[in-house]
Amino acid sequence: MRVILASSEVFPYSKTGGLADVAGALPKALARIGCDISVVAPRYIGLGRRHGDISDDHTGELLFDDLSIPFAGGVRYAAVWRDWMDGAPIYFIDNAEYFGHGYIYGSGNFDVERFAFFSRASLELAKRIGGPPDIIHCNDWQTGFIPAYLATAYAGDSFFERTATLFTIHNLGYQGFFDPNLLSHLGFAWDVYQYGMEFHGMASAMKSGIYFSTALSTVSPKYAQEIQTPEFGNKLDGLLRWRRIDLIGILNGVDYHEWSPETDRNIAVNYSINDLGGKLECKRDLLQRYRLPADLEKPVVAIISRLTTQKGIDLVAQSIWRMLEAGALFIVLGSGAESYENYFQHVRDTLPQQVGVYFGYNNTLAHQIEAGADMFLMPSAYEPCGLNQMYSLKYGTVPIVRGVGGLDDTIHNFERATEKGNGYKFYDYSPDRLIEKFYEALMVYYDRDLWRKLQRNGMHADHSWDRVAHDYFDAYQRVAAAKK
Ligand code: ADP
Repeated sequence: MRVILASSEVFPYSKTGGLADVAGALPKALARIGCDISVVAPRYIGLGRRHGDISDDHTGELLFDDLSIPFAGGVRYAAVWRDWMDGAPIYFIDNAEYFGHGYIYGSGNFDVERFAFFSRASLELAKRIGGPPDIIHCNDWQTGFIPAYLATAYAGDSFFERTATLFTIHNLGYQGFFDPNLLSHLGFAWDVYQYGMEFHGMASAMKSGIYFSTALSTVSPKYAQEIQTPEFGNKLDGLLRWRRIDLIGILNGVDYHEWSPETDRNIAVNYSINDLGGKLECKRDLLQRYRLPADLEKPVVAIISRLTTQKGIDLVAQSIWRMLEAGALFIVLGSGAESYENYFQHVRDTLPQQVGVYFGYNNTLAHQIEAGADMFLMPSAYEPCGLNQMYSLKYGTVPIVRGVGGLDDTIHNFERATEKGNGYKFYDYSPDRLIEKFYEALMVYYDRDLWRKLQRNGMHADHSWDRVAHDYFDAYQRVAAAKK
């Protein structure tokens, strides 16, 4: 099984969100089970080492500098670099015109052109690095043109005759819209637009991926169902219903080499399911970092999040005062909309003994929060998979979530009577429902033995990539067989 996985971001080289974590961990796990997998990503130049992003000196060896790519009415060139992610090679497409601007994502038509170029370059790369792939695994709109190019420009190309595509939707909220007038520049005929890319007068790279791929997946079983409904379908629910027999949901894994309290080097003291003592030291350390008093008996409630409406920050903003009234300490790590930052800053300024804020991206701090907090909030409006709730489980930090997407698949209400369940979840998008669950958690929090039980229920969960890799491997085999 020969697979090429194309992604616009790959941890630890480049990252803005969960896609990078998937593209960074899944290939390693697939290689471990014997899958012949290569990764392809853009080589972003000039990002520096902010956010764990790529820098020009971190992409391994220069393999060749003459990859020619038919694109934009002529031929463009890229250099190709190769590094190793354990057993999986990662190839970087290096073209300064498209990826030399010091950012991962920009906006508008130029962004679509950049990733159309990347898509086409990935196909040309495939021809240079070995035999025909059985599967090209595409991810989100940035690679949504790969199946379209295969179905059009490469339709008669014997190299790709047996190549199938799996298109994974990580977030339907970002669709890569562009002006249809750009199509000929990207190398597509008008009819391709009409049946496979048109979106209410605009064109959509996400739609292209959904329409042209051999099969589809998304990052949790629940989200696979949800995106077929008008509420979560971003106006693509009709198309997704039409393709529903080709659509599966595979829950993301967790990279426990990065996220495990037993081995985590970012946290004050390591601890484990058998000895949670160190967690209290992590709590003390966290409160100190946020310059909060060491009130260790009070519950620490945390969020680590992009501050966007998707993440349900409105609900947090509307319920935070009641949590503070109940005696909670509150910790925020996030970046995003200025209005949210201002709001949390205002709460912090009002109650500086109870609230700590950090605006920006800080991976080390994210680890320290997972270790030091007692409760973790994720009241998302929608959540394709969500990683933080799974990290929380591992760190004995109790998630309080809204039951959407991967949150619904991973979090189960703790019941006092049976002592089963690993967190708290509610369904209505309402601050009152969130607060109810918070109070429920609080009652258990003050019952130390019961709280330990709840923590341990969560810590038992195994969301390792090794398990997930088998699901993808099976999917690859089914999709490849369907093509042949
Ligand atoms: P999404 O991809 O929608 O942002 P996920 O929960 O799938 O949400 O993944 C978010 C990832 O980004 C997690 O690894 C989380 O720890 C990390 N993250 C989000 N915001 C921050 C931040 N401000 N600082 C550090 N890490 C963050």
